[in-house]
Amino acid sequence: MGNGFQMQDRFADGAQYIGGRLRPGTSGRHQEVVNPATGETVYRYELAGTDEVDAAVAAAREAFPGWSGATPAERSDLLHRFAAVLAGQAEDFAHAESLQCGKPVKLSTEFDVPGTVDNTAFFAGAARHLEGKSAAEYSGDHTSYVRREPLGVVGSIAPWNYPLQMAAWKILPAVAAGNTVVLKPAEITPLTSLMFAQAATEAGLPDGVINIVSGAGRDAGEHLVGHPDVVMTSFTGSTAVGRRVAELAASTVKRLHLELGGKAPFLVFDDADLGAAVNGAVAGALINTGQDCTAATRAYVQRPLYDAFVAGVAGLMETVRLGDPFDPSTDLGPLISHQQRDRVAGFVERARAYATVVTGGEAPGGALAEGAYYRPTLITGAAQDSEIVTSEIFGPVLVVLPFDTDDEGIRLANDTPYGLAASAWSRDLYRANRATRELRAGCVWINDHIPIISEMPHGGYKASGFGKDMSSYSFDEYTQVKHVMYDNTAVAAKDWHRTVFGDR
Ligand code: NAD
Repeated sequence: MGNGFQMQDRFADGAQYIGGRLRPGTSGRHQEVVNPATGETVYRYELAGTDEVDAAVAAAREAFPGWSGATPAERSDLLHRFAAVLAGQAEDFAHAESLQCGKPVKLSTEFDVPGTVDNTAFFAGAARHLEGKSAAEYSGDHTSYVRREPLGVVGSIAPWNYPLQMAAWKILPAVAAGNTVVLKPAEITPLTSLMFAQAATEAGLPDGVINIVSGAGRDAGEHLVGHPDVVMTSFTGSTAVGRRVAELAASTVKRLHLELGGKAPFLVFDDADLGAAVNGAVAGALINTGQDCTAATRAYVQRPLYDAFVAGVAGLMETVRLGDPFDPSTDLGPLISHQQRDRVAGFVERARAYATVVTGGEAPGGALAEGAYYRPTLITGAAQDSEIVTSEIFGPVLVVLPFDTDDEGIRLANDTPYGLAASAWSRDLYRANRATRELRAGCVWINDHIPIISEMPHGGYKASGFGKDMSSYSFDEYTQVKHVMYDNTAVAAKDWHRTVFGDR
């Protein structure tokens, strides 16, 4: 696998995976999957129309009674097999992910794919551990207990920045809890979502449990959100589209899970380990070419360390090797598309009017000129309310601002509509602990920025959305709790009836 011809061959039957088999879309509109490192088309397909969404929802609906009726042990066993199939295809997955996204193969090999295998193994185990309150005679006269039940057909929508991991995060907790799923990947990156669904079938998951509709947001996406047979929408993407999805979901009173944009602060106190903070800022800002919702985007550095931090980050950014994603020594790949590269460049060009571009701020030439590359970029001197500090850029761009007091640093870090992630850097236990309490974000790292683990939740505060991916917390999104109350008295005239008729 690897080049365009082979992808065309592999998905010759189409990019819609419905009821356990591939089929073409019928929207009449075609989409190209482009390798952004070269501009080469690696796959061309017909987008899903509303017919494919309807067929996928019907397949998921048909699969639901059997899948939700399976024992947790049966679901767990199949998910363990699924993890093993994925692990066995790790190289193919890494290759396909790098091909459609332009990610360095060392990132897809060491992060995207093993993370997905681990997530699958985690949910295989978690499928047997749904939690709830213990049954008891809370009223005295009844036994009460809760049932944690799956919802039905979940419609999920994913972005292009981590296509495989986003498919995994959306699908795994839902199916582990007994739901069936229709996932719409971003139309520019459907390949690894299709491979993921195929691997599930190979592992023995029944047809219809996982379906993929590769379609555009405006038609296939909106049709999925509005579909009356879909009980929940789980969406990961931008805050702007999330708002639209929430409006559409309201019309059918759907349960919603929204993982939206971010603008993570990186707060460096003056007692921090400077070298660690510099390394952390560069890694946190440039991971996945900055196309990461938790990426470090705004560094606030306490005045005594400010100059050394800026010099250190600029120096390190200049050593980062841009190149062919398939070269194992490449650090930084292209952005997802030329359009996204131009968008990022637009933010930086506008910032030149009010700020200083310390390093970067341009696309490389030479052998990389055909790709959607952009150099690591460091900006200083921007005001807190400027566009470069407030907007989600989704590219390899870090802005650094100074602060004086701890209060000011925390206030500036929180001064954003977003709240997905944040980090604080300090060797002082009390300062660090204060930051964990006061930073308003769904994840706060101390002396690191980016790592995630399957056992712990990922999700936003404020305009970054609500609900959790990963961890057993995600079962709160994908299950509903039913209170069952059993009368233990066998008395026909119950004491409380007097409040409605008769006297004691
Ligand atoms: P996007 O919002 O443009 O698209 C996300 C998905 O929504 C795509 O599949 C797209 O086709 C679909 N879509 C677009 N319009 C739609 C509509 N009207 N109805 C239904 N679906 C529609 O986002 P993107 O550009 O693909 O991804 C980048 C964004 O995703 C960034 O804002 C980033 O922060 C966010 N993101 C968030 C998380 C998180 O966990 N919070 C993770 C990854 C990415």
